[in-house]
Parts: sequence; structure tokens; C-alpha cells
Amino acid sequence: MTRLRLTFLAVTALIIAFWLASIDPAQMTGDFWSVRGLLVPLTGILAITFMAVAILLAARPVQVETALGGLDKFYRLHKWLGIAAVIMAVLHWLAEKAPKWLVEAGALAPRQRVPGAALEPRPFASFRDLASDLGEWAFYLLLVLAALALWRRFPYHLFFRTHRLMAPLFLVLAFHAVVLTPAAYWNAPIGLLIIMVLAAAAVAAGMSIFARIGKTHRFTGEVTDFHFHDGNSVLDVGVKLTTAWPGHAGGQFAFLKFADSERAHPFTISSGWANSGRLAFSIKGLGDYTRHLPDVIRVGQAVTVEGPYGRFDFRSSGAAQLWIAGGVGITPFIARMEAIALSGERQDVDLIYSTGAPDDGFINEVRSSAGAAGVRLHFVDTGREGLVDLAKVALWVPRWRDTDVWFCGPSKFGDSLYHAMIADGLSKDRYHRELFEMR
Ligand SMILES: Cc1cc2nc3c(=O)[nH]c(=O)nc-3n(C[C@H](O)[C@H](O)[C@H](O)COP(=O)(O)OP(=O)(O)OC[C@H]3O[C@@H](n4cnc5c(N)ncnc54)[C@H](O)[C@@H]3O)c2cc1C
Repeated sequence: MTRLRLTFLAVTALIIAFWLASIDPAQMTGDFWSVRGLLVPLTGILAITFMAVAILLAARPVQVETALGGLDKFYRLHKWLGIAAVIMAVLHWLAEKAPKWLVEAGALAPRQRVPGAALEPRPFASFRDLASDLGEWAFYLLLVLAALALWRRFPYHLFFRTHRLMAPLFLVLAFHAVVLTPAAYWNAPIGLLIIMVLAAAAVAAGMSIFARIGKTHRFTGEVTDFHFHDGNSVLDVGVKLTTAWPGHAGGQFAFLKFADSERAHPFTISSGWANSGRLAFSIKGLGDYTRHLPDVIRVGQAVTVEGPYGRFDFRSSGAAQLWIAGGVGITPFIARMEAIALSGERQDVDLIYSTGAPDDGFINEVRSSAGAAGVRLHFVDTGREGLVDLAKVALWVPRWRDTDVWFCGPSKFGDSLYHAMIADGLSKDRYHRELFEMR
């Protein structure tokens, strides 16, 4: 998360620095209208460039996965940039509209033109009214789409559809921004930055509109076997790939699609890679689609697998690791244990696996994977033993401060452990976490 915060701050600082390097200091006279004359373009530029970077991240540029810590983290940054874009768009709209309302209400003196001053050049003059009107309506639609995205009770499948409108909306807002950007900016550093970022984001928006995102990472396969665990509602699915898979590290994930009409869902690959073309997934019924899947899945069914993505890859500087899994968050650890067993290497690992829905068959699979990998398993049935907290972790693994911690499970569980561990001396960069939520 520190890396994401720094990236967000770096993007913001870069835009502001380019803008500052582009404005004429003579414009900063300090009176209301000159401040407004700076605020309108600044908030507009921040809004459109934040939105552009968010759209670029939505196109899943795997090249920056390592720098940002994985695709699941991209989406967190995408969300922050989206929220920041909306806040800036609201400020931009207010900076544009509010002074006019104040003048109309007689609360503010209208702007006085300096007699004899040259009129500002107006590029794209014939498009300015259109750009202005389109920008205003696109802004209102942006507010609605953003509210739906942030409203957690709005069903995911509807959110997914409505959110795709962001790509064409971005193109409209980019048109508004390009036409109305002050003429002087086009010969200054900020003009170059705007053009480069908007052009790249327009390509990403086109990929979204024409469903090209992730296309080069898509592979086909078929379901070879499946087994439903009643105790914890987890469906184990085996897939045999029919196109060449690049291989994956334990802990990476893929988007699965069992029918063309479906949207792809992300699941951790719960098997190590043995060059056999076989992948395994453990899918918990957490929503409409995943609850329904055990009733409709068939052996021989075609599957599209897009991936591998993610950087929950267990690389750490220290020798000892502590893995903490809540519920179906066990999947990346199963994959890692398989990878360790396949490679024959040995690692100093304690795994705490807690679940409120224990299923004997599933737990036995985890036990045998742990045994094969030489991992010390501490199993917790939270129904009988209560939730896991730092006091319990310290009891099972007294030297937890000397380990690198890898967590995957419910957000609240991850947050409370993170805060307790950091408060008790663990350095932030030793706590690694997979985010199971992309919204
Ligand atoms: C990196 C990652 C790895 C994951 N690994 C596993 C795993 O190994 N096993 C497992 O059981 N679950 C895993 N999940 C969670 C799993 O993706 C969701 O539980 C599943 O998609 C829910 O779909 P649904 O339609 O049944 O539920 P819904 O009720 O429609 O959605 C519930 C929540 O699931 C998420 N979600 C739903 N559809 C999508 C989608 N198309 N793309 C992204 N997120 C979506 C959203 O956060 C949503 O709010 C993982 C999630 C992520 C992000």
C-alpha cells in the first residue's frame, strides 16, 4: 500500500510540477478572477489526467505489475485515481460555474477586462461550444457512474456493465479537455504531458470498447474434473489447457470464463506449475455466479483462462515466512506448497489457516500439501476457537517478528492483523497481502 500511495502522490506531483512550469507568473495577481483563471484549467487538467491514468491501469499493463505489486493492487490505485478524478471534476465544475452564479446574484463584481489588453487566442474556436456542452453532460454522467461504482450494494454484474461506459465517457471528456485547454499550454511542458497521457489512454479506452483488454494473455482449455466440498462450499476445478501457457508462480491468479456470455472472474491458481498444462482452482460460493457454478459446471466444458497475473509471489529477504490464510484465502498458499513440493526445495514456513466452515476433505488436502512441502500447519476452526488475533499468532509462532508475513483472507481480518503487527514492531514492507477485491 505504501508503494501505491507513493505512486499516487508521484503522479499528482508530476502533473502539478508540469503545470507550474507552464504558467505565466504575471497571471498570479492574487485577485479573485485571476485565481479562478488558474483554478479552472488546473482542476480540469488534474481531473482528465487522473482519469487517463486510471483508464491506462484498467487496460492491465502487465509491464508495470512488478513496480506496483500486482494487478490486484493496480485496481486499488485505479480506484483512488478514479475518486480523485471525480473530486477534481467537481472542483472544476464549481470553479467554472460558481463565480457566474455569484455575479448573477450580485454577490460578486463581474470580471473587468483591461482596456486595450489583447484577447486570448482561442484554438479550435468552432468546437468550443460543443466541447463545453458535451463536457458538462459527460460530467453529470461521470457523477452517476462513480456513485454506482462506490455504492457497494449495487450488484457487481451491473457495476461491471455500467463501469464499461467510462471508456467512451473518457473519450468525450478528453475531447472537451483538448478543445478547451488554454492556448498557451500547448507550447509548454503541460501541453506535451496532456497529449502523451491522453493519447495513451485513448488507446486503452479503445481496447476496452472493443473488448481487447487482456487478449494477448488469454488461453483456452477444458474442465477435466471438479469436486464440491459441502462443508465450506468450495468447488475444486481442474483445467487442462489446450493452448500453450507461459507458466506461473505459486500465488498468481487468472481470470476464468466458463462461457462466452459470462464475464471473467479472478481466481488464484491453486496448483503449482509442472509443465503439464494442468491448472487447479478452488472457488468459493461468495456471490450469485460462484454459488451457481457447481450446478452448471461439466467435465469437458470449454474454459478461457486469462493470466497469469499478480505478484503475491512469496519473494522475501528473510529466510522465515509466516503465512496467514482466512477461508478461501488459502488458495495461493496451496499453490505455493505445491510449487515447493515439486521443486524439492525447503523453506522455513508456518501456515495459520483459519476457517469458520471446516470441511474435512478440504482440510486433509491442505494438510497433505503442507506435509509434502515441509510447512508447519496451524489449523484454526474459528467456530470453536474464536477469531485469530495477534495474541494467538504470537502463541503459535512466538518469533513472528522475525518472519516475512504473507496474508490472504477477508479484508477486515487482514486490516486488524496488519495494524496490530505494525504497532508491535513489524516493518510495513514485511507484510504482504493479496487483495481479493477489485472494486
Ligand atoms: C486476485 C483475486 C484472487 C481471487 N482468488 C480467489 C480464489 O482463489 N477463490 C475464490 O473463491 N475467490 C477468489 N477471489 C474472489 C472471487 O473473484 C469472487 O469471489 C468472485 O468473483 C465472486 O463472483 P460472484 O459473481 O459470485 O459474486 P458477486 O456477488 O457478483 O461479487 C462479489 C464480489 O466479488 C468480486 N467480483 C465479482 N465478479 C468479479 C469480476 N468479474 N472481476 C473482479 N472481481 C469480481 C467483487 O469484489 C464483488 O463485489 C479472488 C479475487 C481476486 C481479486
